[in-house]
Amino acid sequence: IKTIGVLTSGGDAPGMNAAIRAVVRRAIDQGKTVKGILKGYNGLLNEEIIDMDKRKVSDIIQKGGTILYTARCSEFRTLEGQQKGAEVCRKHGIEGLIVIGGDGSFQGAQKLSALGINTIGVPGTIDLDIACTEYTIGFDTAVNTAMEAIDKVRDTSTSHERCSIIEVMGRNAGYIALWCGIANGAEDILLPEKYDYDEQKLINNIIRNRKRGKKHHIVINAEGIGHSESMAKRIEAATGVETRATILGHMQRGGSPTCKDRMYASIMGAYAVDLLCAGKTNRVVGYKNGDYVDFDIDEALAMKKDIPAYQYEISKALSR
Ligand code: ATP
Repeated sequence: IKTIGVLTSGGDAPGMNAAIRAVVRRAIDQGKTVKGILKGYNGLLNEEIIDMDKRKVSDIIQKGGTILYTARCSEFRTLEGQQKGAEVCRKHGIEGLIVIGGDGSFQGAQKLSALGINTIGVPGTIDLDIACTEYTIGFDTAVNTAMEAIDKVRDTSTSHERCSIIEVMGRNAGYIALWCGIANGAEDILLPEKYDYDEQKLINNIIRNRKRGKKHHIVINAEGIGHSESMAKRIEAATGVETRATILGHMQRGGSPTCKDRMYASIMGAYAVDLLCAGKTNRVVGYKNGDYVDFDIDEALAMKKDIPAYQYEISKALSR
């Protein structure tokens, strides 16, 4: 392989820039030419391709977002789109492609691999919802951003003796909600994976806590459950406790990546290059049992992951 392409796809995540930097610098050191593909698979189909060099990735390790931009691309879900993508790669001499994104993006990578382009996936998503890896780039920054925001809401919530429903991101995954639930000492945590939501139980819990002298009641609600505003209205009506909903939203996706995100992104980016240099394709980089590893994309996509039962149990036990 002489030329390696790199793109970011799906939702952006802090640390993606650190991964791009690692890919570019590691590949150039291995004697490869590197091309940056803008706006995910969209940019591939539109041939928005730029030459990368070591200086192009200067001063980005500390920046949130992705300098290559990211997008979702429905055309790439079709065989015609995928074939066009492979042709564009060939036209630009891109024999190996590194895709930084989530499960959806890996499915695209899998299709390109089947069409003869060597592809490697790097897990970049704040949601932590990729089964083959214990870590995804962006999670640490996002969960710290959410935690700090929730601390702030808690200050004002306590002062006004309110109940707060705070909605955190994660799409259908509840990892940010679980971690914040524990780290922020929330009274209740609502996770899509453990959806035993019983509003009457929640209401009884709020009333009971009030009687026990608690000044606030923090409910962390995962994006996958949603409806925080209407939930707040119903809870206020049923408990008589002033209840506000706060939806943290996209602030959780931005900001300078934490040390952990920069570290994992740097190692995973370099690891992906090493896989391509070793002639590998259709692999995804992961982190398991204290080490960086890689899996076949087909196997990785077939793996399942669930909220650890013990962590969920403890999250409840500590909030009583
Ligand atoms: P995140 O978890 O951050 O949202 P993601 O990579 O899972 O990231 P998706 O929107 O699911 O985000 O996928 C990103 C892009 O990958 C899609 O817009 C599409 O271009 C491509 N893609 C997704 N699924 C497939 C598929 N089955 N075949 C080909 N390409 C796909």
